[in-house]
Amino acid sequence: MNNLLAFRVAAERSRLPYDRPTDVEYAFFPEIRTSRHANTVFLLIRNTALKLWLSNPLYELEIPELRRELAPPFNSDSQLIENVHNYLSRYGLINVGIFKRSTGIPRNIPESVKSVVVIGAGVAGISAALQLTSFGFDVTIIEGREEIGGRVRSIHVGNQIMEIGADTFRSSRSNAMTVLIQQLQVTPISVDEKTPMYADGKFVDVLRDKMINATYTACRDSIDVLTHNAEQRQENGLYISRQRGFENVLNLIERESIIKYYNFWKILNDITEKRENHYQTLKMCREIINMNEKRLTEIGSSDPLLRRSIRHDISVTLKKFEENFEKMEECEVEIHNARKAPSSKQAMHPSDFRYFNFYLGHEEFVFGAPLEQVQMSCDAVKSKLPGASLRVKEGVSGLLERLVESRNMDVRLNHRVQNINYEDNGVKFEQISVFAHCQLEY
Ligand SMILES: Cc1cc2nc3c(=O)[nH]c(=O)nc-3n(C[C@H](O)[C@H](O)[C@H](O)COP(=O)(O)OP(=O)(O)OC[C@H]3O[C@@H](n4cnc5c(N)ncnc54)[C@H](O)[C@@H]3O)c2cc1C
Repeated sequence: MNNLLAFRVAAERSRLPYDRPTDVEYAFFPEIRTSRHANTVFLLIRNTALKLWLSNPLYELEIPELRRELAPPFNSDSQLIENVHNYLSRYGLINVGIFKRSTGIPRNIPESVKSVVVIGAGVAGISAALQLTSFGFDVTIIEGREEIGGRVRSIHVGNQIMEIGADTFRSSRSNAMTVLIQQLQVTPISVDEKTPMYADGKFVDVLRDKMINATYTACRDSIDVLTHNAEQRQENGLYISRQRGFENVLNLIERESIIKYYNFWKILNDITEKRENHYQTLKMCREIINMNEKRLTEIGSSDPLLRRSIRHDISVTLKKFEENFEKMEECEVEIHNARKAPSSKQAMHPSDFRYFNFYLGHEEFVFGAPLEQVQMSCDAVKSKLPGASLRVKEGVSGLLERLVESRNMDVRLNHRVQNINYEDNGVKFEQISVFAHCQLEY
């Protein structure tokens, strides 16, 4: 992989733009705002560090290793390299999670600020405790419930693990948990987010599902266009909800179907009328020809001039007959083709509408809110970042338990913090309800 591509991938996995610093980085390194050269050097060092770390997150990335990777003259500013390394470590972009340290845990934190209490042993609390521990703090996690995990909980059902909380790591290409999955060497399982649709205990026909999905995608695209072209507000100035957005687009589709249906029958009617006209002309021609032939028999050979004139009439009528016959055949073909793809009066059958609602239900699940309360322009499905969705075979709780065990973290379960007093020389917990027998001494 060439360096540019490797930098792009590493920055994307770290949730950073590869070709420009973020506001946080400008705040840390103000000099890169004014100098183009400093900016380029900074990005080169930062992206190289990310690339090195992500290529092997089982081992600590040390400053000398980073310096060695940089080609001269970009390795000459030792201070900048150290600062970038410190910044990335501090922000959990490198040397994060469970990795083998070669430099050891720092021991230079003053005793007065060394003790840290993290409240809550959910993903956030455990991650914070993990980072703080690796910076050299003494961390105690206080958890109100009888087990860690918070909104993550995996339960064992027979041989299977069932997640009753968070289960999926989405957008794995830029999800911080991907590094932990690698470090803890748990088994990731790629999941297809497309949930099969059931109706009355049976799979919905794949073709039907595809067509409903296409309508849903078309609605989403229309909403996207509408909201990009103008703000969608009601008369009272409030933003139109996503629910109303879908309803409006569906109404338009419904209206379009009725127009198409009307046009279809109008066209069919016009062609049928045309065919009838040709048919009537054919009938008339035949009568004229029959009548003229009868006259020919009647006059015999008595009047050659009249005979010639009648024959001429017959030949002109015959030509007209043939022309009309061809046109009538053309009409038949047109009618046959139109009938092959008749237009429907309804855009969606009521039962299909039920399935369509399933997609709206999925959006509500992704937003965690009813679509009446979501602004029309919000498209959670579209703003999804790239990368597969992963689950872990061992269960997400198992992953958190291994994190806690690997750093031997001090977790006090069944302790609910009720009040915190912030003072100049630290923080005091005035009251902690103790649900279990162990007593805290803060
Ligand atoms: C059903 C469900 C499915 C989900 N699915 C996904 C998914 O597939 N993918 C995804 O990325 N996210 C998902 N999420 C969201 C994800 O679970 C949360 O974003 C994440 O777990 C939040 O972690 P947290 O540490 O911030 O908070 P929490 O997990 O809520 O942890 C907070 C912890 O603090 C403790 N606590 C609170 N107050 C006190 C106190 N006063 N004293 C002591 N302890 C206290 C709580 O007991 C809890 O253990 C899902 C959530 C739910 C509910």
